[in-house]
Amino acid sequence: MSSNAESSIRELHERILTCTLCPLCEGRHKAVPGEGPANAKTIFIGEGPGRQEDLEGRPFVGRAGKFLDECLESIDLQREQVFITNIVKCRPTEKAGNWVKDRKPATEEMAACKPYMDKQIELLKPEVICTLGDTARSQIFKRFGLEEDTIGHLHGRLFLAGSVRVVPLYHPAAALYDNSLRQIIMIDFQILRRVLSQSRLTNI
Ligand code: URA
Repeated sequence: MSSNAESSIRELHERILTCTLCPLCEGRHKAVPGEGPANAKTIFIGEGPGRQEDLEGRPFVGRAGKFLDECLESIDLQREQVFITNIVKCRPTEKAGNWVKDRKPATEEMAACKPYMDKQIELLKPEVICTLGDTARSQIFKRFGLEEDTIGHLHGRLFLAGSVRVVPLYHPAAALYDNSLRQIIMIDFQILRRVLSQSRLTNI
């Protein structure tokens, strides 16, 4: 990977850190551009930062992130080997009484953030894109013109979008609320292991 791509990603992330394109910038502690090596050939895309991510400025560092790390380790991957980011780079929240809780990003928020995701994909040139949850799945399917279906039908399958392989996965947070999904997600990661080993064969 040329240091050009690396510095372009760094510059892009600096822009994200001070972005004011949508109202999510008003409530954030830190924007979360994403992280991973500029030559990562696999990227994982979640929905949006949660509380811990907003505080640390890093993706998937809360409870869902711990489970994601576990899933990656189960297929002999370390998170440092892959690129991890989100559809929106700032935490979407709503009030629930005296609490502030996470919510799905609004259509306009995703639209405002889309150029950042597009640029990350353009610079990283991933071979494999893994979407985490249905929000990311639906945005990436739209971007690549893939046919819609429910996450229940799509998870753990391989979709070709030109030279890019797209693997929709359940969101790791789903396993925190529904224990039966834990095993399904683990099995989907085994499918991903196979996809990655095929992609490495073509990439040596
Ligand atoms: N959930 C997400 O979708 N992204 C994160 O970074 C953390 C939790």
